[in-house]
Amino acid sequence: MFETLSDRLTSVFSSLRSKGRLSDADIDATCREIRIALLEADVALPVVKAFVAQVKERARGAEVSQALNPAQQVVKIVNDELIEILGGETRRLRHAKNPPTVIMLAGLQGAGKTTLAGKLARWLREQNHAPLLVAADLQRPNAVQQLSVVAERAGVAVYAPEPGNGVGDPIAVARQSIDHARRQQHDIVIIDTAGRLGIDQELMKQAADIRDAVSPDEVLFVVDAMIGQDAVSTAQAFMDGVGFDGVVLTKLDGDARGGAALSVRHLTGKPIMFASTGEKLEDFDAFHPDRMASRILDMGDILTLIEQAQKTFDEAEATKMAGKLTSGEAFTLEDFLEQMMMVRRMGPIKNLLGMMPGMGQMREQLNQVDDRDLDRIAAIIRSMTPAERQNPKMIDGSRRARIAKGSGVTVTEVSGLVTRFFDAQKMMKRMAGGLGIPGMPGGRK
Ligand code: GDP
Repeated sequence: MFETLSDRLTSVFSSLRSKGRLSDADIDATCREIRIALLEADVALPVVKAFVAQVKERARGAEVSQALNPAQQVVKIVNDELIEILGGETRRLRHAKNPPTVIMLAGLQGAGKTTLAGKLARWLREQNHAPLLVAADLQRPNAVQQLSVVAERAGVAVYAPEPGNGVGDPIAVARQSIDHARRQQHDIVIIDTAGRLGIDQELMKQAADIRDAVSPDEVLFVVDAMIGQDAVSTAQAFMDGVGFDGVVLTKLDGDARGGAALSVRHLTGKPIMFASTGEKLEDFDAFHPDRMASRILDMGDILTLIEQAQKTFDEAEATKMAGKLTSGEAFTLEDFLEQMMMVRRMGPIKNLLGMMPGMGQMREQLNQVDDRDLDRIAAIIRSMTPAERQNPKMIDGSRRARIAKGSGVTVTEVSGLVTRFFDAQKMMKRMAGGLGIPGMPGGRK
C-alpha cells in the first residue's frame, strides 16, 4: 500500500538533500512535486489542495527548526500534515457503559464487510472480549453461512437465523441479537448488515432502520480502498443515508496508491479506525495515523513491529532468549532455529522487514523474500543430530550429503547454511563485545 506515494515523496525529499537553505522558489517547486505525488496516489483534489497549501505555509514560515537541514524540515512538515490528514490521534473503539457494546457495519457489497466482521471479532477476542457476530444480511443467499464460517475461524459465536429460512427480518434479528448477547454474556455485538452493489434507497433505509432499532455505539463504514476516488462518493452517500462514526479501509494491500485513505477522513470528518490488508483474519489492525504517515515516508513502523513481537512471544520466552544471547553461552544452531521460528511466528518476513525504516527503497528485493526459504533452513537444522546442532564443526562431507538428503535440499544449501551460521556466530561475539555485555568474549567482566 502507498507505494506510489511513498516512492514519489522519497524522491522529492532526496532532491532537497543537497540544498543548504530553501528559497521560496525551492519551496514552490517542492510543493508542486508533492501535489503531483498526491494526485498520482489518487487523493481527492480538494484534499490535495488543502494539504499542499498547509505544507507551503509552514515551510515558508519561520517555525522551521535550525537543528534540521532543509530536507529534514520538509519531511517533518509533510509528516505532521500527513498525520493530520489521516486523522491526528488514533481513534479507539468506544465501549458502552452497559455492555454489550454494539458495533454496526455498513458498506457496499464486496467491500469486505463480512471478512472484516471476522477480523474485528478475532482482534477483540484477543483482547479478552467476548464478541458476538450477528448476521443481519439476509439478502445475499449465502451471507449467513459465510458469516458463520468466518465466526468459526475467528473462534467467536454467531447469531443468525437458521440457514434456508428464507428472507427473514434483519431488523428483528438485530434487535433480538442484543438480548441474546446479554443472556450469553457477550460484551460486544458486531452486526453485519446487507450490502448492495451500488447505493440505493432501500439499502440505506434498511441500514437506517437497523441503526434505529439497536442504537449502536459505533457505526463503522467499511470501504474498499481499491475503488479509489469512488470511495469518497460512497462515503458521502452513506454519511447522508445512515451516518457513521468511523471508517474501516479494506484491501489496502491491493492498492499501491492509497488515495482513499488520505481523502475519506478529510472529506467526511470521520476518523479511519481500522485497516484491512489481506484476506486472512490476521491481516487487520487498528489504524494509527502517525504510524501510517511514518510508513508512507519510509521511516518505518517500529511500534507496530514491537507490538507484534509482544503479541507473539511471551515475556519468559523472550527473556530466556535474550539471557542466552548475552550470558556468554555459545550461540548454537539450536538457538538459531529457535530464534528463526520465533520470528516466523510474527508473520510473513516480507511484512516484518517492510516495517523497518528505509526498506521502501528495497521493495524489489523484499518481494523476493520467500518464507519457504526459512522453512528450508529449519528443515536442514532439524535433519542434524543434537550434537551437530551444538557443534556444527563436526559436520563433515558425508554428513552434509546425508543431511541434504534428509531435508530435501542440495549439499550446497547445507554448506551455505553452516557457513552463514559461523558468520552469525562471529558477529554475535563481536556485537556482544562491542556492546560491552558482561560475560561475552570481549565484553565487560
Ligand atoms: P462483503 O460483501 O462486504 O461482506 O465482502 P466480503 O467480506 O465477502 O469480501 C469480498 C471479497 O474481498 C472476498 O473475496 C474477500 O476475501 C476479499 N477481501 C476482504 N478484505 C480484504 C482485504 O483486506 N484484502 C484483500 N486482498 N481482499 C479482501
